[in-house]
Amino acid sequence: MITIDGSEGEGGGQVLRYAAALSLLTGEPFTITNIRGGRAKPGLMRQHVTALEAAAAIGSAECSGLAVGSGELTFRPGTVVPGEYHFAIGTAGSTALVVQTVLVPLMLADAPSRIVIEGGTHASSAPPFEFLGATLLPVLERMGPRLSVSLERHGFYPRGGGRIVLDIVPAPLAPIACTERGAFKAGKVEVLIAGIPFDIAERELKAARKVLREWLEDAFAPVQLSADRGPGNALLITAECEHVTEVMSGFGQLGVPAERLATTAAKRMAGYLASGAFAGPYMQDQLLLPFAFAGAGEFTTVKLSEHTRTAAALIARFTGRTFAFGEGADGLWTVSLG
Ligand code: ATP
Repeated sequence: MITIDGSEGEGGGQVLRYAAALSLLTGEPFTITNIRGGRAKPGLMRQHVTALEAAAAIGSAECSGLAVGSGELTFRPGTVVPGEYHFAIGTAGSTALVVQTVLVPLMLADAPSRIVIEGGTHASSAPPFEFLGATLLPVLERMGPRLSVSLERHGFYPRGGGRIVLDIVPAPLAPIACTERGAFKAGKVEVLIAGIPFDIAERELKAARKVLREWLEDAFAPVQLSADRGPGNALLITAECEHVTEVMSGFGQLGVPAERLATTAAKRMAGYLASGAFAGPYMQDQLLLPFAFAGAGEFTTVKLSEHTRTAAALIARFTGRTFAFGEGADGLWTVSLG
């Protein structure tokens, strides 16, 4: 039984999701205390409960202490059973973070799975649908499994109600080297807008253009969604390179000027492109689990995030496998499985 203090390291929901995935992958039970102890409002939120329910469902696990507000739980994994599953978060909690919990165990199962998840698809502090579909899954497919995800309905904060469908055809994970990003091929900036004034989209596109000056004019486009999906607003900046596609995002929030969120996301993209790294700031921590179970591999990235350090420490506790982090003179980091 592994005991985890959920306030250590990054101290948020990610610790819990990765612990559940690692438990399913290793067969090792765990107890976690001080859940999300690093957050202003600690304890399980609805989206974390659903992520753990999903892990328990696919992994025939017993889980005690699973309730909104709970600060402690115990998870005892059983056998991973691939198949068709449907999970509804019931809030705008992130569908992609439920994927984050079940993906690697199902990538290594002995038959395909189809997972339908309802909740948020475009909300802050989580991967938007496009990051999952265009950035993360194509990299993981290079390791062997076949993965696809489709968006059936957008779900914004606070309303939620989005729906995604994920298909997984498992395969043993082969180590990959993701050190070269390759040549830049195309850039695209989209603003999703639903049930809020259209000029917000125009202001965000204008602010993003000021940063990404070299991108073609027709790369910047608003996407008006049906008003009944809203209120909602997401900015999605996509850079397609030869070996990887990165998506940086920003999400409309009351009190945050459209210009500010667009400038922040565009600068993040500009920084990533200038760095020469393969993985952007959010892909980092999401690559560690599959890399650990491929047994080897390497990628380059921008400055290491606390999420990455926390995920690496957790992986070491469950598996004994350790990642090495090297910083080059140019600020480029290399992450490799030691
Ligand atoms: P908490 O509320 O405790 O912060 P959480 O479960 O919502 O919990 P984190 O523990 O911070 O969130 O984990 C967020 C995860 O989402 C990380 O894996 C991070 O890399 C990823 N992520 C956050 N923002 C983005 C983004 N804009 N694009 C892609 N991935 C993102």
